[in-house]
Amino acid sequence: MQKGNIGVTTANIFPVIKKFLYSDHEIFLRELVSNAVDATQKLKTLSSVGEFKGELGDLAVQVKLDKEKGTLTISDRGIGMTQEEIDKYINQIAFSGAEEFVEKYKNDANAIIGHFGLGFYSSFMVSKKVEIVTKSFKEGAKAVKWSCNGDPEYTFEDVEKGDRGTDIILYIDDENKDFLEEARISSLLNKYCKFLAIPVAFGKKKEWKDGKEVETAEDNVINNTQPAWTKKPADLKDEDYKSFYRELYPMGEEPLFNIHLNVDYPFNLTGILYFPKIKNNFEIQKNKILLYCNQVFVTDSVEGIVPEFLTLLHGVIDSPDIPLNVSRSYLQSDGNVKKISSHITKKVADRLQEIFNTQRADFESKWDSLKIFIEYGVLTDEKFAERADKFLLLKNVDDKFYTQEEYEKLIGENHKDKDGNLVYLYATDVVEQHSYIEAAKSKGYDVLLMDGQLDVHFISRMEHKSEGKKRFVRVDSDIVEKLIPKSDAKAVSLSQEQQNALSDVFGKLLPKEGKQSFVVTFENIEGSELPVYITQNEFMRRMKEMSANGQNPMMSFYGEMPDSYNFVVNAAHPLVAKILSEEEAECAAKVKPIVDEIAALEAKRKDLKGDKKDEDLAQAIKDEIKDIDAKLAKNGEAKSDVFEAFAKSNKTVQQLVDLALLSNNLLKGEALSDFVKRSVAML
Ligand code: ADP
Repeated sequence: MQKGNIGVTTANIFPVIKKFLYSDHEIFLRELVSNAVDATQKLKTLSSVGEFKGELGDLAVQVKLDKEKGTLTISDRGIGMTQEEIDKYINQIAFSGAEEFVEKYKNDANAIIGHFGLGFYSSFMVSKKVEIVTKSFKEGAKAVKWSCNGDPEYTFEDVEKGDRGTDIILYIDDENKDFLEEARISSLLNKYCKFLAIPVAFGKKKEWKDGKEVETAEDNVINNTQPAWTKKPADLKDEDYKSFYRELYPMGEEPLFNIHLNVDYPFNLTGILYFPKIKNNFEIQKNKILLYCNQVFVTDSVEGIVPEFLTLLHGVIDSPDIPLNVSRSYLQSDGNVKKISSHITKKVADRLQEIFNTQRADFESKWDSLKIFIEYGVLTDEKFAERADKFLLLKNVDDKFYTQEEYEKLIGENHKDKDGNLVYLYATDVVEQHSYIEAAKSKGYDVLLMDGQLDVHFISRMEHKSEGKKRFVRVDSDIVEKLIPKSDAKAVSLSQEQQNALSDVFGKLLPKEGKQSFVVTFENIEGSELPVYITQNEFMRRMKEMSANGQNPMMSFYGEMPDSYNFVVNAAHPLVAKILSEEEAECAAKVKPIVDEIAALEAKRKDLKGDKKDEDLAQAIKDEIKDIDAKLAKNGEAKSDVFEAFAKSNKTVQQLVDLALLSNNLLKGEALSDFVKRSVAML
């Protein structure tokens, strides 16, 4: 027997491994199995170039558990190692600057293992002793056993080994007994080794015999050595892509489209990405893409490698050129990674364009699922936005689809306002905004459906990009005549006094509780069948919506504001004229003395105060003004009471207010019951 010390500079590697790599212990299995696969692939390569002349035979890597001995063994029939090679590759580890690095990345075993090339040594995270029993493929090579129990001392021994290749035998330590459980190892192999290029067998296949589960002679191979992404796109059918998707996500719904990535310059990258079906906006799952390096699973968190919006996709990316064993912050600044990221973006856009060009009907039928993804891309990635402009679809309320260019042509001159700007009309809910949609349609306008989670942002983007030449207006944000103003508004045909009176009358019946506020306004809309409308200001509504789903604290101010509505009175409508004349007949006589008194009080107040400031007034005058103010307030109330009494006794006013509220879904509870009763009584 021969002894030696593992050559580490600066620090002893074992305490580092044991002490710092407390997370991610499980990756030792990935490291050992992929070493075994590498050794096997090297032998295959040597064989193909004629440097190895023997029989390759069965090349499966074997993973075995022995509960009694407490060991986990990974065996391969690859190139094996001579004693000199163990000395060179295992015993001499360059390990300078270790402490500092380890301190920085102590929670990231991947980074440490990658940095120091410690794949094999990760076995000490879970073992009290590790043995390597190996025999090189080289002719006349002697088998050798290396053994180390977790301090820098190792031993070499000559052993008998019939076959070439390597057995790595782990004596699992007491804290890590779970790695002796079959189920645990099985799930780890499934996670990390599912697509390795050499068959990996975990024990034997089992079958039921005479009511008992017994082992068969057949290897229990846990991997698919030729996953779809490693094949040529030309050799794959649609069904192959779908079945590969099921292999990745056994529970997943069928995807919409796939994109096969295949790059070999200026970096190597293969993979298949899928557009998932999105049933509703709440179930969008990010980070389902799996990252592989030469078919070895590395991680399922791809932030930094693919652009944010692509994390909504599913599938696999495999690249030996992504520096995986490094920290995330390093990844994001790596030039190669940036190139990969923009390449994937381009590929995704190209594929969408291709599907749009060749299968437009299919593309349209899947638009509802694609939309959130494409809008997300457009909003966050300028490069993608440029490409997406050609296949991004707008859907109208009749489920017809248009590209932006097609839609602009469709609405054309008809949707231009008096200043020549293009107005896009839209609805967010075809049921709730039905009457407004109908009104717009009857004027010959087209109405888009914008009910997506990101639409409000998308709309802002389009407006912003057009530099004021395009504007989006929701159908209920104004009366139909003013949605797309064709000429300056007509002057209102009512005197200020008449407007004040009607404001009072209608205002009395509009709801005052809850998070709504109403302002009574006047328009002259000739030829309209409606005497009153309720509209909701576009700007305020959008601000509220953005504050509801945004993170910007500045916007939360808008979120606190009530919903502000305009109650628009059409001064040109005969019913309004009728109400006005009834109001004059009923209220004028009652209001006259009050108004006269108000005028007298106001005149007196003005006399008393003159141009003086409050603090310059004598106390007696101050008192008198205070008295006048109280009287003014009282008179104001009295006047308001007259209008209220009128409003509450006038069925036309009541019906009009309720109908306007009703068509906006704002008539609720008792008010709704009253409306129904009153309507029936009127019949
Ligand atoms: P890395 O795999 O990153 O080089 P490791 O510590 O995992 O680092 O392995 C060090 C070296 O030991 C490998 O490069 C390889 O030469 C050798 N080695 C490890 N495992 C095996 C094996 N099963 N068969 C043959 N050689 C191996």
